[in-house]
Amino acid sequence: MKKVIIIGSGLGGLSTALRLSNKGYDITVLEKHSTPGGRLNTIEQDGFRFDMGPSFMSMTYEFDDLFKSAGVENPLIMKELDPIYQVFFEGREKPFRIFKDLNKLESEFVGIEDNLAEKLEKYLNKGGEFFHDTEEQVVKSNYKNKLNYILKLSKVPKKHLPYLYRSMWKELENTFDSEEVRVIFSLVAFFLGSTPFRTPSIYSLLNYTELKHNGYWSVNNGMYTIVREIVKILESRNVKFEFNTEIVRVGNNNGKVAQMIDQNGNSWEADIFISNSDAAAFRGKVLNRSEYNEKKLDDMHWTLAPFTIYLGVNGKLDNLIHHNYFLGDNFREYANSIFTTSVSPKKPYYYVNASSRSDDSCAPEGCENIFILCPVPDLRFKKNWSDKEEFADKIIKDLSSRVSFNISENIITRKILAPDDWEGMLNLYRGSGLGLAHDLNQVGAFRPKNKDEKFSNLYYVGASTTPGTGLPMVVISSKLVTERIENDFRTIQ
Ligand SMILES: Cc1cc2nc3c(=O)[nH]c(=O)nc-3n(C[C@H](O)[C@H](O)[C@H](O)COP(=O)(O)OP(=O)(O)OC[C@H]3O[C@@H](n4cnc5c(N)ncnc54)[C@H](O)[C@@H]3O)c2cc1C
Repeated sequence: MKKVIIIGSGLGGLSTALRLSNKGYDITVLEKHSTPGGRLNTIEQDGFRFDMGPSFMSMTYEFDDLFKSAGVENPLIMKELDPIYQVFFEGREKPFRIFKDLNKLESEFVGIEDNLAEKLEKYLNKGGEFFHDTEEQVVKSNYKNKLNYILKLSKVPKKHLPYLYRSMWKELENTFDSEEVRVIFSLVAFFLGSTPFRTPSIYSLLNYTELKHNGYWSVNNGMYTIVREIVKILESRNVKFEFNTEIVRVGNNNGKVAQMIDQNGNSWEADIFISNSDAAAFRGKVLNRSEYNEKKLDDMHWTLAPFTIYLGVNGKLDNLIHHNYFLGDNFREYANSIFTTSVSPKKPYYYVNASSRSDDSCAPEGCENIFILCPVPDLRFKKNWSDKEEFADKIIKDLSSRVSFNISENIITRKILAPDDWEGMLNLYRGSGLGLAHDLNQVGAFRPKNKDEKFSNLYYVGASTTPGTGLPMVVISSKLVTERIENDFRTIQ
């Protein structure tokens, strides 16, 4: 029986373990943190439960596929969000609620954007065509090399070419008249690690996935249920877990990894190794590859870092729904400076998740669990977070005034995680929240590969390898790496 070691128990590591667990491998998962899940984690404090990172997902059918591939039925009960989210603009009391039903959505923008439903239908259809023309043959595909990737890209219908050269903002400007609609549908660019002014318009496919294709979903009893359910199956299949175990270097080898060494000098041997640690940073920091030395890693484009606040609040915040965005009134200035500023943003833009609005089990009666995520520059640009308490106070004050509820005076419990905490806890490079950005030179065959360049038995899974970041992409990543392993080892056996 082939012995497999998976380094990291994020969704990438866990879903790879799940796919391999019914194929006759002997699997051990080594995890630096004290609990499984990586960014997909949970915080329980003073009677409140919070999703620590991800709080919703799209493309839920990837989870059906994942469990099916492991020979079990999907145990997750998911709930579609409707409205999907709401957006508060500075100086405008009423938020815009974003519905999948385009006629309902249009009624939110009366007097602001005429014929919104018709315009959006056209805009989303374009994004949708690109999505379906690339999903199977480009996104869910392993590449032998760059040429093979370019060959696959060349099969994508040529009509999409202009969207590669036009920015997402330009496309939005060409389609919609109001600044509000343009801003709202451009927010997805920040998830990818860029701004709508620099992101190619092909990524409007994300608007399609959220508004038309699959929507946004949460999981009953919190997102961490995903981890609990997968771990339950893995344990029943004798997959072993070792927590508080960080791999810091690779042992002796001869074209193959013989063993990996943890922080206490223990040596871990296996036939196959899979790293769920960041695919670029692991190559640099653990394997000492010159192509990924600190300078080269710092020159890459990384997604923004998370500044997260978890508040247990006494009282109900009726102006919030499950997902809420709070934006300032200086969008261009914000977009142009947020990735590289060395100070905490003067006017923070942030996202608020209040899962207690739709799930009573995560807060005591009459209370709310408020999770605030404020994207901030990573540790290359702002190294020192000793101002984290003041920065959190500023956001809480802003939120209080915008939802007409004095949050500060009603806090029962409070926890803050700044980018340095995220880095220290899970080895997120420079605290970047979603890993490597999705510039065209950092996707497909230009993203760190899921098979090592030198060691024939070392593979990668997760947000910074192919295809990319976000829960569904990471699940697809586990499928791609499993295919590679099965291919390589089936021929060798
Ligand atoms: C605040 C926040 C909010 C987010 N919200 C959403 C959302 O709403 N929807 C969505 O789809 N996505 C969201 N994401 C993105 C999503 O969380 C990630 O894309 C996904 O969870 C990444 O999974 P992964 O397995 O690649 O990595 P990780 O979850 O980072 O797992 C990697 C694991 O490897 C461990 N590890 C690292 N190095 C070592 C080592 N050397 N030795 C041993 N163990 C090691 C880490 O401790 C970690 O547990 C969010 C991310 C953040 C940070």
